[in-house]
Amino acid sequence: MASSMSPTTTKRKGPLENNNQNKSKKSHWSAALSDALDDESVRLYRDDLCTVIRDKFPKAKIHLLVMPNEHITDLKCVNDTHVPLLKHMLKVGKEVAEKIAAKENATGSFAQFRYGYHAIPSLALLHMHVISQDFISPSLKTKKHWNSFTTSYFLDASDVIDDLQANHAIRVDVARMRKLLDNELQCHECPHTFPTIPKLKQHLMTHIY
Ligand code: AMP
Ligand code: ZN
Repeated sequence: MASSMSPTTTKRKGPLENNNQNKSKKSHWSAALSDALDDESVRLYRDDLCTVIRDKFPKAKIHLLVMPNEHITDLKCVNDTHVPLLKHMLKVGKEVAEKIAAKENATGSFAQFRYGYHAIPSLALLHMHVISQDFISPSLKTKKHWNSFTTSYFLDASDVIDDLQANHAIRVDVARMRKLLDNELQCHECPHTFPTIPKLKQHLMTHIY
């Protein structure tokens, strides 16, 4: 694996082919990540297996997405043959996050990360979130945003790998997961609950150190 975050030039398609592909893919919003995967200008890191970009609507100071280069729609399409790929994505996510945190002189919760998948993703290309635990961001606006990163709707990447190794597939209880998004707003660091996102955000500042 390349150790630098510089883009590499593996498996690129010709510019014309790319442009045409992007035009057709952009016809649906859920293809946004497929477009991003092919867009060198947003790339933080790429190797033979995966690509890392910044989340376009970050829900914390550092919020990255790690995607396989091969098209895998979501966790429903993953089986135990994908374990090496998922392990590699986790390793790369950790390395890139730590490099960015060091470069940005991030400390405390700004330099603590979780790595994982949304149980029910909205975008049609497998992506692992790498998210710093400050959750300080203007793009974090809704209860759904909050609960998708702080409840068990967020599937830890290491648990996903363990689950795949044990059960050969990932099963998601869709009804239970949808309900989690309606949970009351509870701080991820302490038992406090809040009636609104602005009040929660005010409280989050007390955990910054
Ligand atoms: P989810 O499918 O719920 O796991 O999350 C999709 C993530 O992709 C969200 O965090 C969005 O903010 C992010 N996102 C949406 N469009 C783009 C884009 N064009 N480039 C990068 N990230 C995006
Ligand atoms: Zn708290």
